[in-house]
Amino acid sequence: MNTSKNKINVGVIGVGHLGEHHVKHLKSINSFKLIGIHDINDKRATSIGKKYDISIYKNINELIKKCEAISLVTPTETHFDIAYKCIKANKHIFIEKPITKSIAEADRLIKSAQEKKIIIQVGHIERFNPALAPLNKYTLKPKYIEIQRLAPYNVRGTDVPVVLDKMIHDLDILLFLVNSDIEKIYANGISILTNSIDIANSRIRFKNGTIANVTSSRVAQDDVRKIKIFQQDLYITIDLLIGLTEVYRIISKKEKKIHAIKNVDFNYQGKKKHIIYEKPKLLSYDALKAELINFADSINGTAKPMVDGVAAKNALELAINIDRMIRKDLH
Ligand code: NAD
Repeated sequence: MNTSKNKINVGVIGVGHLGEHHVKHLKSINSFKLIGIHDINDKRATSIGKKYDISIYKNINELIKKCEAISLVTPTETHFDIAYKCIKANKHIFIEKPITKSIAEADRLIKSAQEKKIIIQVGHIERFNPALAPLNKYTLKPKYIEIQRLAPYNVRGTDVPVVLDKMIHDLDILLFLVNSDIEKIYANGISILTNSIDIANSRIRFKNGTIANVTSSRVAQDDVRKIKIFQQDLYITIDLLIGLTEVYRIISKKEKKIHAIKNVDFNYQGKKKHIIYEKPKLLSYDALKAELINFADSINGTAKPMVDGVAAKNALELAINIDRMIRKDLH
């Protein structure tokens, strides 16, 4: 365990598109000391090393040896081998999502990390979206959840089906919102621009009765990232993209109001009901920086990872099952 007085020596492995952002934030977070970077692409490593004035390690093992923690931002198929190497060397590890390409690999990482008392955190960045933060003010017992994630085509991420690239973010959020096992999954999808599934829809029924309808597309005209939560006397609508959370609640006149803006009264079966509209004020912060701070705090023992290896494995398992069902349905 680290004491908060000491900085955590950290390295970044894989400094492509997202890895550069890890470098930028790790340099600026007080709890970390960025020791160096490693990338199999020498040209890329040199350019990021120069831009951020960071040492470049051609030998991955030397970088791992010098660090207490690693940010792993390489393509998913390489996650297991590199993460396993880090855990074996007793290094805490932040792995970009998805945790691994298979459940068996995720299980092995989780088991080894538990044995070594190593922190695994996984980069399901949407959990740190400021628009989700107000949810902890409400008692959630969702009956129905509708989630949409639509994005224009971008070659990045098309090496995997849309379920494993995009929908997995929402599946992680869904499993966080619904505290129940899954009873049944229905799923459909189609290919439009790539050889794999580009548009997917899944309906998930949980054992506690909650139903979720999740849609993801990577061939949309515009970006959309919306969540709607319906439960007894409560409706929450969240726009993750623009950062807007709106709440409609039926309350008794005595109940506490959180940022209530409008009140509406209506009659139902002769009884007067009182609806309030609330728009919780959202804090403004960078979600990637927040998740790396959570990683530092977890290493220092003052917090737990918001998305640990088990949560990431559960999201991956659900994504793999949905993808399998879609492909089965197509044949
Ligand atoms: P990228 O292709 O831009 O960068 C990957 C980098 O890793 C490249 O520079 C490549 O040279 C390097 N690399 C590949 N194999 C390596 C190895 N064995 N050792 C060292 N370096 C290696 O990809 P990206 O878009 O930055 O994605 C990286 C990871 O982040 C993926 O797992 C992806 O799924 C994930 N990702 C997560 C989010 C999110 O929202 N959390 C968004 C984008 C990407």
